[in-house]
Amino acid sequence: MTNPQAGPHTTYRTYRTYRPHRTYTTYKPHFYPSAPPCRKPPRQLRYSLGMEQPPFAFAEPDYPLAPLTRYRVGGPARWALLPRTVEEARAAYAWIAAQRTGGAPLRRLVLGGGSNVLISDCGIDGAVLVTTALEGIEALGNDRYRVECGVELGDLVQDVMLPNNYDGVGGLTGIPGTVGGAIYMNAGTVNGTTCQWLESVEVAGDGGSRTVTTDASCYGYRGQSFCPPGSLILQGVFRFCAAKADQRAVYAHYMQRRREKQPQGYCCGSVFKNPPGDHAGRLIEACGLKGTRRGGAVISPVHANFIMNDGGATFDDILSLLRLCQTAVKQQFGVDLEREVIVLD
Ligand SMILES: Cc1cc2nc3c(=O)[nH]c(=O)nc-3n(C[C@H](O)[C@H](O)[C@H](O)COP(=O)(O)OP(=O)(O)OC[C@H]3O[C@@H](n4cnc5c(N)ncnc54)[C@H](O)[C@@H]3O)c2cc1C
Repeated sequence: MTNPQAGPHTTYRTYRTYRPHRTYTTYKPHFYPSAPPCRKPPRQLRYSLGMEQPPFAFAEPDYPLAPLTRYRVGGPARWALLPRTVEEARAAYAWIAAQRTGGAPLRRLVLGGGSNVLISDCGIDGAVLVTTALEGIEALGNDRYRVECGVELGDLVQDVMLPNNYDGVGGLTGIPGTVGGAIYMNAGTVNGTTCQWLESVEVAGDGGSRTVTTDASCYGYRGQSFCPPGSLILQGVFRFCAAKADQRAVYAHYMQRRREKQPQGYCCGSVFKNPPGDHAGRLIEACGLKGTRRGGAVISPVHANFIMNDGGATFDDILSLLRLCQTAVKQQFGVDLEREVIVLD
């Protein structure tokens, strides 16, 4: 939401109304019947029984995760925590970090837009902290913005970068998911990445939350070093700078490119990172794997680094195609393909 009193360089948004079930309406139960029975029930059951009920009004039991992911695959979370403010998120994370089941830390997952995760049909037998209600952006002046982790990256581009003609639009245009996920993954393209514009970030971990000043030494290709897996990026401060070229034209160009070159449908984008000096998609295509199917999953005939849920795909369908690509590329080219997608089994 834009504040009409604000100047041209000020974007101000307030927290939107809490809609815990807003993506629940897109839940498509027909994706579940073909899911195989979970292969790990004894361990799951034991962990569930040891887990306390979270003391929060925003906690939901047995919460379906598939509708929260771009793959539309995955079983339920034992508990989903859907905080509405940064304060609630800090409290929720502190509670999760303090939990023990059978002496071991509680299984935890931070979930943003779900655009780069593949979740097991067994679900997550623990706590899943869903960040998508944390949608505040505050203009701090001098081209600096405090951005909460649940803001969609596309909204940051459209509500902040484009109106102010900030540099960096070429790298961030068309990437689905949240700002928290984009910082965690250092999402971007050859034209630039998210962490490039980051000045500092607040990260909650086992010892509480801390603010880290970021620079080029703490991020790289699809990763960073300030937020270990399982920790929570609560918010970041970005500092942008004015671009010389018209960024609306840049935005239109890259949106069009994505429409032309990328397959449309349920997927996680690129499944593998590009190996140095090459493209994972080229290697997979050269192995003749485009169009290969397993159950409801298919290696896209449009772009070989995309594995699509073509309707009713299970976790195992997608995982088996992923492994097929890795094996074939290793055999034919001696190259180890590293996953970009986060697999949670
Ligand atoms: C069609 C399509 C195109 C894509 N194109 C690109 C592209 O061009 N470039 C690119 O880099 N990626 C691309 N992606 C992948 C994906 O959009 C990015 O990785 C995105 O930044 C993930 O954000 P998310 O909120 O969806 O994260 P999720 O999928 O929810 O999570 C991904 C990982 O980030 C962690 N995470 C999420 N939020 C937080 C948080 N607040 N704190 C700590 N950890 C967190 C999760 O635990 C998980 O490990 C594409 C995906 C799709 C579906």
